[in-house]
Amino acid sequence: MVRVLSGIQPTGDMQLGNYLGAVRHWVADQHRADSFFCVVDLHALTSGPDPAELARATLRKATELLACGLDPDVCTLFVQSQVAAHAQLAWLMECTASFGELRRMTQFKDKSDGQEGVRVGVFTYPCLMAADILLYDTDRVPVGDDQRQHLELARDLAVRWNSRYGDTFTVPEPSIPTVGARVMDLQDPTSKMSKSRGTPQGRVDVFEDPAAIRRKITRAVTDTATEVRYDPADKPGVSNLLELLAATAGGTPAGLAARYEQYGPLKRDTAEAVIEFLRPLQDRFRALEADPGYVRTCLADGAAKAAAVADPVLERAERAIGLLQR
Ligand code: ATP
Ligand code: MG
Repeated sequence: MVRVLSGIQPTGDMQLGNYLGAVRHWVADQHRADSFFCVVDLHALTSGPDPAELARATLRKATELLACGLDPDVCTLFVQSQVAAHAQLAWLMECTASFGELRRMTQFKDKSDGQEGVRVGVFTYPCLMAADILLYDTDRVPVGDDQRQHLELARDLAVRWNSRYGDTFTVPEPSIPTVGARVMDLQDPTSKMSKSRGTPQGRVDVFEDPAAIRRKITRAVTDTATEVRYDPADKPGVSNLLELLAATAGGTPAGLAARYEQYGPLKRDTAEAVIEFLRPLQDRFRALEADPGYVRTCLADGAAKAAAVADPVLERAERAIGLLQR
């Protein structure tokens, strides 16, 4: 059976791009693949979150994932830091990657450019991500388009390791959707929507109040022309709305464009489609939020299931690279 793995950072509430670009595909994948999904709290440490807030956000992210439809009886849902092998293999990956290739990562350039006191973890983050993936003999990694470069690095590291130390890791394939792979910020449609960057007005949170969603989408930045046309390069704002409408109501962005002559009705219909699309997830979230004990139990079970797969792979890697066996 095909093995699938992916992760999401705990910091920031889940935004629509996370769901459309990644999580909804995880929900579908769990029924056709042996699937592992994790809340990557170690990755979140790169931005130095408040300790009490990090723990709260980690539990909330797991609650959000369950509300989105991940079923702990079908897939393995866990918290990255609760499976020690992730941090252990990450060091071996840091000793496999080169300084030059990490320096070329566009996310590192974006996050470090002009910043004072950038943490080393921002630089080495892709090595931890490679470890996350390689620990599970992962065949396929469903992610949004922004993770393409990191995935390519994980593949390069696996190939390099295998050729130097012998066949140890499965070389993973990325799986990036055709619609919703890069949901753009509503206020700055040239940047991707993000949980932790941009303004609250620019992002739609999956579990936020419908009135707020309606307000944000109807105030989305478009352009000074009036023609509704799907053209991401020339009309990023309008094209983003068409993508959101297509992803939530069906159809293709270009096909939907032909139905509209003005921006107002396009915005109204997009807002209503998004609200209806999210309603069942929001209902489930309210029920789960009232039962944090259940979520914690799911995570404890998930960590045990994950470690049972990850630990033997770590051991295989340690043996291959020449660490003395116990
Ligand atoms: P952060 O700003 O903290 O990095 P994020 O919104 O980028 O938050 P991640 O936890 O880094 O969220 O990513 C989780 C998943 O969501 C990844 O697979 C990523 O590719 C996907 N994703 C993130 N933003 C978008 C987006 N705007 N459109 C589509 N997919 C996205
Ligand atoms: Mg991100």
